[in-house]
Amino acid sequence: MVEPASHALRHLPAVATVLATTGAAALVERHGRVATTEAIRQVIDEARHALRAIPAVAPGADELAVRAGDLLAAKAPGMRPLFNLTGTVLHTNLGRAVLADAAVDAAANAMRHPVALEYDLDSGSRGERDDHVRGLLRELTGAEDATVVNNNAAAVLLCLNTFALRREAIVSRGELIEIGGAFRMPDIMLRAGADMVEVGTTNRTHAADYRNALSERTGLVLKVHTSNYRIQGFVAEVGARELAGIADAAGVPLLNDLGSGSLVDLSRYGLMKEPTVREAVAEGARLVTFSGDKLLGGPQAGFIVGDRALIAEINRNPLKRALRVDKIRLAAIEATLALYRDPDRLAERLPTLRYLSRPHADIDAQARRLLPAVAKIVGTAFAVDVGDCQSQIGSGALPLDTLASAALRLRPHGSQELLDPLAAALRALSHPVIGRVSEGALLMDLRCLDEADEATFLAALGELDTTALLAARP
Ligand SMILES: *Cc1c(COP(=O)(O)O)cnc(C)c1O
Repeated sequence: MVEPASHALRHLPAVATVLATTGAAALVERHGRVATTEAIRQVIDEARHALRAIPAVAPGADELAVRAGDLLAAKAPGMRPLFNLTGTVLHTNLGRAVLADAAVDAAANAMRHPVALEYDLDSGSRGERDDHVRGLLRELTGAEDATVVNNNAAAVLLCLNTFALRREAIVSRGELIEIGGAFRMPDIMLRAGADMVEVGTTNRTHAADYRNALSERTGLVLKVHTSNYRIQGFVAEVGARELAGIADAAGVPLLNDLGSGSLVDLSRYGLMKEPTVREAVAEGARLVTFSGDKLLGGPQAGFIVGDRALIAEINRNPLKRALRVDKIRLAAIEATLALYRDPDRLAERLPTLRYLSRPHADIDAQARRLLPAVAKIVGTAFAVDVGDCQSQIGSGALPLDTLASAALRLRPHGSQELLDPLAAALRALSHPVIGRVSEGALLMDLRCLDEADEATFLAALGELDTTALLAARP
């Protein structure tokens, strides 16, 4: 039935009428009265414009409440949880490490309650915030002392600024790395106030190169773990142990920036070996820096471990105050580090390690178990099967080592042009699913899908409107 525009407009429900529906009541419960009323006003406005343009039956109050709900859902917080099925375990753009339950609980407690952040419970006097992690870091790395800052970039910046301000820092040309997000070693040196002295060549640097560059202006010798690339072929580098000897002889500290670093030997969990912090300390570097949210599997943080006197000097640098971490992260760091005291149960408790060490057979079995349910949801528009794929560690760790994994592969029945709209529709779900497009299929690598989250995953996929996808086909 087509009504004259004026008639239909008169039938358009008022804001109060829509607000009185059960649908709107649920929205008020979830989003609050102010946001819900605003959304209802907006959908009524839109309906009014539409009716003026094309005469039709006015939408009812319930329908308008549904539209308001869609509008509010579209405004859902951007930081809502999502499924990382990209196959990259430590995905920097997706927040790197997923924290252990113990770390989440500790962080929540630190948010909800006062905590002894800089307070010594024994004496009732002022304490130091680093004290919460100092003992654990010493125990886990063998270093004399330790401190923690915002991230590893800050750790490197702080070391450079403390020991090489208006002095020289020596680094091999083969180690002048760029990490994503504009962290470039030469730029950091400049901003830290250090004069960079490059030695050697891209592929070969020798002990004599460092020795010749040392002078009374040298404040620091740097060794940077080439975490996200490999130089192969005719290559030579000076190992940390030898370099520590050279630096010590000149009375200059060696800083070994491990980047990811690891507190345990990963080969124990069937992974490739990444240098451990304990080894780097034992090799003689006076300072070692590493990240909290890479292989370590904790929150974003940067650790500096090393000689007591040097750490004390770092702590006196006013920049330390600008780069320190807050109580929430400190609580999560402490809880994460504590898990490392029990390596036997680490893989079970630390999600990063759990994901990295999942065997292919386990992921493949999960994919086959979920296949029928997923096929039922998307089967009309897409062919679904299980296929082998390769996962990556991510965040620049072990860049050449991939992990055998399994994925649910969604392939359009018709044109390939449906792939990008499918990926977009998956991103738009209330619990977004992020896969990757490869060889004409959308891959959902299940390495990072916990069994406990399978039901949520299927429910999220259930929101997918494949009919709309097909209809919108170009
Ligand atoms: C990742 C990395 C950094 C930066 O660490 P963030 O914790 O991301 O700030 C610095 N140096 C190396 C060698 C790295 O791999």
